[in-house]
Amino acid sequence: MTAPAPRDAALARPTPRPGVLAIEAYVPGKSGAPGAHKVHKLSSNETPLGPSPAAVAAMREAAGSLALYPDGSATQLRAAIARKFGLDPDRIVCGAGSDELLSLLAYAYVGPGDEGIFTEHGFLVYRIAILAAGGAPVVAPECDLTTDVDAILAAVTPRTRIVFVANPNNPTGTYLPFAEVRRLHAGLPANVLLVLDGAYAEYVRANDYSAGLDLVLGSENVVMTRTFSKIHGLAALRIGWMVGPAPVVDALNRIRGPFNLSAAGIAAGAAAIADEAHVAASVAHNAAWLPRLTEAVTGLGLRVTPSVGNFILVHFPEEPGRDAGAADAFLTRRGVITRRVASYGLPNALRVTVGSGEANEAFLAALGDFQRGQAHA
Ligand SMILES: *Cc1c(COP(=O)(O)O)cnc(C)c1O
Repeated sequence: MTAPAPRDAALARPTPRPGVLAIEAYVPGKSGAPGAHKVHKLSSNETPLGPSPAAVAAMREAAGSLALYPDGSATQLRAAIARKFGLDPDRIVCGAGSDELLSLLAYAYVGPGDEGIFTEHGFLVYRIAILAAGGAPVVAPECDLTTDVDAILAAVTPRTRIVFVANPNNPTGTYLPFAEVRRLHAGLPANVLLVLDGAYAEYVRANDYSAGLDLVLGSENVVMTRTFSKIHGLAALRIGWMVGPAPVVDALNRIRGPFNLSAAGIAAGAAAIADEAHVAASVAHNAAWLPRLTEAVTGLGLRVTPSVGNFILVHFPEEPGRDAGAADAFLTRRGVITRRVASYGLPNALRVTVGSGEANEAFLAALGDFQRGQAHA
């Protein structure tokens, strides 16, 4: 071995793998509005109803044993999920949010020289996960802000290892009927893993949604990820889960951290999933407000993409002073925080979470003033 020349040695430093520095770090939704006396955070798709009281009680109880490592298999949580959905607990793996599971899937199935596909306005975590694993991200165009199965199938090459599809998608809120998901699966090579991201599954009222789980259970190359961050109101605890074929579950169990969920997360998640009344209340609140918000915003002269999630995507004209940037600044001054989605290829739209009645009214009032060109509050 030849020693490096002294000059090189002085310059040498640890270097991340190729791809890592191609990642643009995820930027979460804003949470503050300096100067506003009351802030309504409608930027991260959190639930206005908060978590189940049973989940909060379970978390408090977990505070009594903080010195002890949690159950690394999250047995109690997997059992509660399995009971609720009629699944085999051995086909479930839990993660620190579903974000961790999406990353673990990429680490396990994608490497240098491989490709991973996601859609034009798909969740940004997919690109990050594929690049972090050393793979190449491949973007499939969408049609009308909706996943286009033919475009995904056209993007498949012999290097494709994974396809991520959120259904409904974030930030568009659009839904892909399960006949289309089945057609996508049928067209994929058997060695490509199809990841169905069901972060907003509970809000979907289309009667074909549970067909996704059937597809997972009947296939060797489909998984579904779910989260406790959205309808269950436990985003702060970082809890997600995945159901999939035994070999995929086995792969994730080999590479995940041995204690990737906290004891508080395991206990609170198990309590939350058993509280069906709380979930039903959230579904009812969303079902009442989603059409009201959509109609009211449309009535203000703005286009809204039809959503089945707990958020809407509002499109603004490309006119200085009337565009999404101006609207965002105006709403922020009024204490209403929404999400800019330029990084999702939607520079002239804002994503707005369905909030409490008070927050929704505050948003509509402020947006109405913006549209009418009223002076800043
Ligand atoms: C919010 C969201 C998730 C959930 O992330 P967690 O890590 O579970 O909090 C996953 N996928 C999509 C599309 C989301 O919008």
